[in-house]
Amino acid sequence: MPTPHDHTLDACFLGPYGENDTLLEKLLVEFQRDHVYWRRNFHPEDPPVIATAAAHHPDYLAFEARTRRELHLLSAALKKSVPFHSPRYIGHMASDLLLPGLAAHMLTLPYNPNNVCEDAAPVTVELEVKVGLQLARMLGYPSDPAKPECAFGHLTSGGTLANYQALRLALAMKAFPVALRAARVPELQLPDDDWQAFNLRQTEVIALLEAWQHWLAAQSADVAMDWRSRVEAERIEQRGLSAFFAAHPRLQTPLVMAPITAHYSWSKGLKLLGLGRDQLRLLPTQGMRLDADALQSALDQCAKARQPVLMCVAVLGSTEYGTVDPIHDVLAARRQARTWGLDFSVHVDAAWGGYLATLFRNADGSLRTHKEVAAEFTHFPSREVHAAFANLGDTDSVTVDPHKLGYLPYGTGAFICRDHRAMALLSEQADYVFNGKAPADYMTRYRSLGQYIPEGSKPGAAAAAAYVAHQVMPLDHAQFGRLTGATIRAAEAFHVAAQRFASQMAGCAHVIVPFEPDSNLVCLALNPCGNAQVAEANTFVQRLYDTLRCDPTRPLQMKEFFGSMTSLQPERLGPAETARILAAVGLDTATLADSQAEGRLLILRHTLMNPYLIDTHNGISYIDRYFEFLGGQIRALTRADAA
Ligand SMILES: *Cc1c(COP(=O)(O)O)cnc(C)c1O
Repeated sequence: MPTPHDHTLDACFLGPYGENDTLLEKLLVEFQRDHVYWRRNFHPEDPPVIATAAAHHPDYLAFEARTRRELHLLSAALKKSVPFHSPRYIGHMASDLLLPGLAAHMLTLPYNPNNVCEDAAPVTVELEVKVGLQLARMLGYPSDPAKPECAFGHLTSGGTLANYQALRLALAMKAFPVALRAARVPELQLPDDDWQAFNLRQTEVIALLEAWQHWLAAQSADVAMDWRSRVEAERIEQRGLSAFFAAHPRLQTPLVMAPITAHYSWSKGLKLLGLGRDQLRLLPTQGMRLDADALQSALDQCAKARQPVLMCVAVLGSTEYGTVDPIHDVLAARRQARTWGLDFSVHVDAAWGGYLATLFRNADGSLRTHKEVAAEFTHFPSREVHAAFANLGDTDSVTVDPHKLGYLPYGTGAFICRDHRAMALLSEQADYVFNGKAPADYMTRYRSLGQYIPEGSKPGAAAAAAYVAHQVMPLDHAQFGRLTGATIRAAEAFHVAAQRFASQMAGCAHVIVPFEPDSNLVCLALNPCGNAQVAEANTFVQRLYDTLRCDPTRPLQMKEFFGSMTSLQPERLGPAETARILAAVGLDTATLADSQAEGRLLILRHTLMNPYLIDTHNGISYIDRYFEFLGGQIRALTRADAA
């Protein structure tokens, strides 16, 4: 079935050939002039400070010449950049930039807003808070700021920092009730012991926080100030981990559970927070999707050992395989754990797959049924994938990377939590929470963004870009979903082509797709026929990858296609899956132990996020061309080895 041409996608990007150059140029010139008028109209009575004749001075001309020279050198050097925009690029999680986002970013740069606070960014801080609401709505979180339980989201430098923010918030929420108990705040309904206080549900923590705020508000200023500092003195953020846990000997340092597919930012996060990597429990998967039974039994053990759990991470679109964890099963495991007195936050690392939620959302914000979504694709979404997305609204927080599937410039990650009231616990200056004043309205409160975010100064241009992109392409299936839908269709076409390719390669190389793709990443395991040694298969895949990797020593045009590579490790895969995949490509599992094999099987990885992989206008499939290229390389390599 030929894919019909989608004209809305024509204006989305600068384009592989720079097709929309006039559009971008027009916008840039128009808004650069607009910016200059803004400067001139600030105080038109002030005369130009730089003399009109200054441009003729030799020093000016020399400066200009140096600037030009350096810019030419830079521009020339940048020609070695990775051509992310090209449909020949199917390597890492990068593609062309959404034109509205790019234009908004460039338009905003000369105003240089700093989204640390409203004083430095009167316009773009508000846009950032609105981006948080746009993303919250896409995920199924409450997104009406008039409602007390509205979600809150902010931008970060990337998914790494967003994941770190999730850890900070989860720890603050977990430890706050313990501090209230330790401070012996009167008249509040506090849990009976530290263990219970450390295992309250997030809704209960928020209720307690609100009760505490109301109680404070009813006290005289002096009394409120005194109680405020008593509680502050007991908080984990004040005492530090070691003093806090020393003061509460019945509480062990909490664990973070995550599937073995989790991104390495989780390891960084645990180090940064001082919890230590020992507290990161990596759980086994089934087909690279978190094994819910393993989670259940790990939680069971924790409950029995009175070992607290801070958070369970579910990955929505794993970085290496694009697989989607069963979020519904993680939530069910938490319901079960609660009956054992164990509670923790559920965070979804959707740095990669977050924007795929657009496919599941109607314009009115309601959820689409499995049948409705499936009607647009061949296999997507599996029942499990649909259930995962349908249950996002019941999780506590989510990481999404607008600089990945949001097609926005780097430096744009996002953290979103389901109930904004929790954010009070992250506030650097506790005054608004504890000064007894009624909290200001939602927008007013978050204009002091710097109070809540892990970073300080940060680009308002990134917020402007995300806001404008989401306004032009609202985050539902009929709008932004056209783009994410195209990536899924490309992945489905790639999967079909890979199977065809596998039969074409019969007798030359074994080729399989090791995991049914859940989203838009597809891997290929390959092994030349006649070889059973993992080490040799790895050398073969490494040589294929050498033709697909970025090589700054050679002209870019020598490169036909760009791909990426990852590896499968038995300790991650489990014995059954390892045996299945190795057998399917004719490898002997025992040879994984050979020293040269390094205990892993190298595989090719493909990110199918470029919207122009299937060029319906010219009737070209870059996917088919890629497989023709790969086939040629494989034949050449196997012939060379045979000779
Ligand atoms: C990319 C990614 C991250 C890290 O995000 P950065 O933006 O690179 O910091 C975290 N988790 C997952 C699942 C990712 O794919």
